[in-house]
Amino acid sequence: MLLNSYKIARVLPCMADPEKIRVIAEISDEIHEVFPYLNAVLKGCIYNHPALTLTIKKDGKLLTLHFQHITLAKIEDEKEAEEILKWLRDLINETYEHRDQIEPNYSKGAELKALDIFKLLPGTNCKKCGELTCLAFAVKLVGRDTEITKCDPLFSEKYQEKRKVLFELLHAAGYDVPNVFSDS
Ligand code: SF4
Repeated sequence: MLLNSYKIARVLPCMADPEKIRVIAEISDEIHEVFPYLNAVLKGCIYNHPALTLTIKKDGKLLTLHFQHITLAKIEDEKEAEEILKWLRDLINETYEHRDQIEPNYSKGAELKALDIFKLLPGTNCKKCGELTCLAFAVKLVGRDTEITKCDPLFSEKYQEKRKVLFELLHAAGYDVPNVFSDS
């Protein structure tokens, strides 16, 4: 067994969706060894091998595995978070147990989409980044033609939770983000 236990450490509002919560769970064991095997068996993962993160998209939710903790975004409530964490623990352990039969996949996997970024931007079309709309900025960002730091409003307290989720997503996909976990 690779992952023995987990514990919900923090429950935060999910500013990406005001109706939902964001959950950070501490885990009892380092789990990064299983990431390339999960990346091989699951569709649509974003794997950042150097940063040791794997983001799984499941039913519109973002589940990001780090080597010592797990974050869940767009979650209904703590009950759902517990169910997802149990599902993840079983998936991690089962995949790890059968790793000898799986060809590990170290590729980045699914590309980040502009719409995924757009949903986490302020959405005000204020043009401070030099683009006419937030969507135009998201398209440039995903194409690495601009930097997230150009969206000044995103760095205000109002968008703190959106920023955290977006930074996590960008970081997991291998993009540069400033002080990615400094305010998580
Ligand atoms: S600065 Fe940010 S909020 Fe304003 S238009 Fe650009 S991406 Fe949208």
